[in-house]
Amino acid sequence: MSIEPDTGAWTMATDVVVVGGGGCGLTAALAAAEGGAEVLLLEKQGRPWSNTARSGGMIPAAGTRFQRDAGIVDRPEDFAADILRKNGHSSDPELTLRLARASAELVEWLVDTVGARLALINDFKYPGHGQFRMHAPPGRTGAELVADLRRAAEAHPEIILVADAPVVALVADAAGAVTGVVARQGGAVERVRAGATILACNGFAGNPALVARYCPAMAGALYFGGEGNTGEGIVWGLALGADVAYMDAFQAHASVAVPHNILITYAVISEGGFQVDSAGQRFGNEMSGYSEHALALLAQPGGVAWNVYDERIHRLGLEFSDYREAVEAGAVRRGATLAALAEAIGVDAEGLALTLDEYHAAAGQPADRFGRRVTARLAPPFYGVKVTGALFHTQGGLRADGDGRVLRADGAPVPNLYAGGGVAAGISGHGAGGYLSGNGLLTALGLGMLAGRHAARMRLAPGLPAAGRDL
Ligand SMILES: Cc1cc2nc3c(=O)[nH]c(=O)nc-3n(C[C@H](O)[C@H](O)[C@H](O)COP(=O)(O)OP(=O)(O)OC[C@H]3O[C@@H](n4cnc5c(N)ncnc54)[C@H](O)[C@@H]3O)c2cc1C
Repeated sequence: MSIEPDTGAWTMATDVVVVGGGGCGLTAALAAAEGGAEVLLLEKQGRPWSNTARSGGMIPAAGTRFQRDAGIVDRPEDFAADILRKNGHSSDPELTLRLARASAELVEWLVDTVGARLALINDFKYPGHGQFRMHAPPGRTGAELVADLRRAAEAHPEIILVADAPVVALVADAAGAVTGVVARQGGAVERVRAGATILACNGFAGNPALVARYCPAMAGALYFGGEGNTGEGIVWGLALGADVAYMDAFQAHASVAVPHNILITYAVISEGGFQVDSAGQRFGNEMSGYSEHALALLAQPGGVAWNVYDERIHRLGLEFSDYREAVEAGAVRRGATLAALAEAIGVDAEGLALTLDEYHAAAGQPADRFGRRVTARLAPPFYGVKVTGALFHTQGGLRADGDGRVLRADGAPVPNLYAGGGVAAGISGHGAGGYLSGNGLLTALGLGMLAGRHAARMRLAPGLPAAGRDL
């Protein structure tokens, strides 16, 4: 049963319970604790290999002091305009602007107060962003980001983190107000009373049945995110009468090395590389976006393609630890000439040579025949990686306001219930094409911070026993 009635029988109590220990959950816990709340964070997995931990850790923010220090002038309004342009003005403009406006404060708070190691990425600009605004850990991995967030949460006296403790139901009173959660830990069932419940358990990309229902274009595709993300947060919200939105929205990615299953940064494409099929021919505009281009890739025979680029771009890729991992795993092949590369990657050499000639001929033109503006000329030695398109995460879910409060269809909040990150309706519009790089962590950490701050006001009455103690 996804919603259990409040019978008054509890085994624990806390001010704020957070469901999920990824980026949203850890950020929400830290923000709520900073607001004076006692927080219990329950994580389903023993070793939480969340989407945030698997991500590139790129957090977009506009107007940060790190940008100013680098001489970059950026405004939240321009950032919101970039997000809206990418999703065809289909996301909630108010929520989009709210998150863009909170982004600089988020990044500075993470660095200054939480102790996250983040630096501005200004060696390449993500497609669709008018400015350099990604802030990322030194190795450009979400694992580092999660390590920093966890360290801060574990050190905080008001936060208790419990792993291997899946939440299996929410508890609600007769009026539909959420009063706590039911979690399993080992053989025990805990009924945790809470003033506020924050759902930070991501979307449903790890649930093949829900993917087939809401995002059929990705049914059967490789899922590259955390296996814990099976969509129950959204199911619970629906059962409580919450509104859902953008359930067809997802982020795919057109550059996961096969069979190694290692992410190949899309910088190898945006900096001038291209993708070919086994005949050595391009099949679309790679710069339409790595999410939507994944669909074109998956339509190729075997659902695979090859990234082709050169030494300059390879060196840029080496800035990314997962790219270095791919090199070590032998996924990245090198050829002193184009013909040698074609042989190394098993692609038709004549076709590849014609493709490169055509690609170079388009350089400087407003657009090539696929609509791409080609700016780079590639020079030997060449590099190639066999890749597939993968599902990264879903972007639809429970409609939440700018404080993360879950809303019903009439706009009224579901009392005491908050959502952020992949469990909440995102700002990526519909389908695969509305996702702008960074929308994932912006909604996870941004809504996590905002929801945590708001939820901290929902403390239980003083005198109630603290989490971890029997009532
Ligand atoms: C390979 C990859 C690279 C990416 N790179 C970027 C990037 O650079 N920038 C960006 O903005 N976005 C990126 N994204 C997207 C980004 O990772 C996600 O949007 C974001 O991490 C979602 O955060 P979250 O906290 O909602 O979910 P998660 O980080 O996945 O955390 C959810 C947690 O909830 C737990 N959970 C689930 N159900 C329960 C339950 N019932 N009880 C208790 N716990 C539960 C899960 O086990 C998991 O640990 C990337 C995604 C992938 C897959």
